[in-house]
Amino acid sequence: MNNKKRISIEDKLFTVTRKIDTESHIKVNQEKFKKDPNPAILYICPSKVYVKNEETGECIVNFENCLECGSCQVACRDYVVWDNPRGGTGVIFKYG
Ligand code: SF4
Repeated sequence: MNNKKRISIEDKLFTVTRKIDTESHIKVNQEKFKKDPNPAILYICPSKVYVKNEETGECIVNFENCLECGSCQVACRDYVVWDNPRGGTGVIFKYG
């Protein structure tokens, strides 16, 4: 029997904060994004960083919401360029 206590996603997210940079650490190749009929980044990002602009068909990148989980690097390597946030910015653990 597993006696580990389950922690809700809300409780996990409460342990982090972010220092927002002025420049995005994520770039999307918009032409490749537009050609993808079902872009995985719209579904896999736990922080809803990627949103499709229904008028232009381009990908809006809300980089300030990024949790630095790395999922988009794995799933969409062909048109997402993700770099580590600059030093002193990005996710910060409150109790670290
Ligand atoms: Fe979203 Fe994770 Fe990619 Fe950040 S690293 S944009 S949280 S999938």
